Amino acid sequence: MTKTKSLFLVSLGCAKNRVDSEYMLGILSHDGYEVVDDIGNARTVVINTCGFLQEAAREAIDVILDAARLKETGTLERLVVTGCFVQRYGYKLRNEMPEVDGWLGTGEFHRITDVLKGVDETTAPMLISRPAFPADHGLPRVQSTPFYTAYLRIAEGCANQCSYCLIPSLRGPFRSCFPETLLSEAASMAAQGVKEINLVAQDTSRYGEDLYGESRILDLLRGLCEIKGIRWVRLLYFHPARLTEALLDFIDANEAVVPYLDLPFQHSNPDLLKAMRREVGGKTPQDLMTMIRNRKQEIYVRTSLMVGFPGETEAMFEGLCDFVRMAGFDHLGVFTFSPEKGTRAARLPSQVESAVARERRKKLMAIQAGISKRKNQRMVGRVLPVLVEGESSETDLLLAGRTATMAPDVDGRVLINEGEGVVGEIMPVLITEAHEYDLIGGIVC
Ligand code: SF4
Repeated sequence: MTKTKSLFLVSLGCAKNRVDSEYMLGILSHDGYEVVDDIGNARTVVINTCGFLQEAAREAIDVILDAARLKETGTLERLVVTGCFVQRYGYKLRNEMPEVDGWLGTGEFHRITDVLKGVDETTAPMLISRPAFPADHGLPRVQSTPFYTAYLRIAEGCANQCSYCLIPSLRGPFRSCFPETLLSEAASMAAQGVKEINLVAQDTSRYGEDLYGESRILDLLRGLCEIKGIRWVRLLYFHPARLTEALLDFIDANEAVVPYLDLPFQHSNPDLLKAMRREVGGKTPQDLMTMIRNRKQEIYVRTSLMVGFPGETEAMFEGLCDFVRMAGFDHLGVFTFSPEKGTRAARLPSQVESAVARERRKKLMAIQAGISKRKNQRMVGRVLPVLVEGESSETDLLLAGRTATMAPDVDGRVLINEGEGVVGEIMPVLITEAHEYDLIGGIVC
């Protein structure tokens, strides 16, 4: 007999959206809902969507229609859709998708129980507002990541105005959480066995600016380093414009802060960075990477690059290839420009053909594959601390894990083919083999 308050939540998009999902799970659990692990057994399904790219919007529509079919074939009674897709497309969705019983924008996720109470009304309740809900709300949260790792969202919204991006209009103005709230949240995570904390926001480099008129990211890191049980603190989504030697010095001097930085440069050409509204302060991307690479202690760098931005010539693209060869990134994501309606960049002249953009992405990833393999080969013969995560998705003969310089969900892994691994523990692994993105090795005790 399916429980009345059986619930299944689908979380699409980025880690920041996943944190919203975890708060909605917290609120609903408090309201007596029980999370089931099979969507076919749920009477209520909530889909927390992404929507900042057309591709993400298409995925959201597919997932919604798939779930809606369970009303005919399964036990589903109520389907509620939340998140950026709702915030972007708004009230017209009600008529376009009558299968959905309730809608919530990004600024209203905390009212998930109100919408569920309202679904029996004639028209599907729809709560959408200008996203300004405080980032520091103290709502209950259910961790959806494995017990040993968690995302700590240190701020919501964005103060940058990158010309290709809709996120400021979907997530609202930049709003930091107070450090006390974050440190107590991190301490309770540590008490529940979390060893790795990944700091996320649209732009973590601006942390505290809205509260104190200046970035307080170093103070926050200092506080996190004092929390017993937290072994790895990782900084993600850090805008390179605010990269300082002081931050790099801090990372070198504090073992708990992993020697890893996610610095989304997007491009290396000054004219394109200007058109993207993505300049990196008074320096160039090349300067910043030289500054990092010239340091005694190694810092591993992940970046995101965009190809096919309007006005990108073959010469500019070749310049980007040179930048990737010079920088020797440890992890790289390459995206093709997507002209999103409502952005400044979508109206720019000299749009690049998507086939050309795809070719450029392929070429850049091929260059990176060679770089990544060479860097991984330097690990062979070394014993590295690896966070054991469980059976590898490839084969249950192998365990999988990550080094401190591999972020969850986006970077490579370590496949463990020898020794007794304990899930959630950081264990010494002797690396015996290297591939483009993954390493292989055995646990040495
Ligand atoms: S930093 Fe730029 S790309 Fe990132 S969310 Fe903000 S506006 Fe968008």
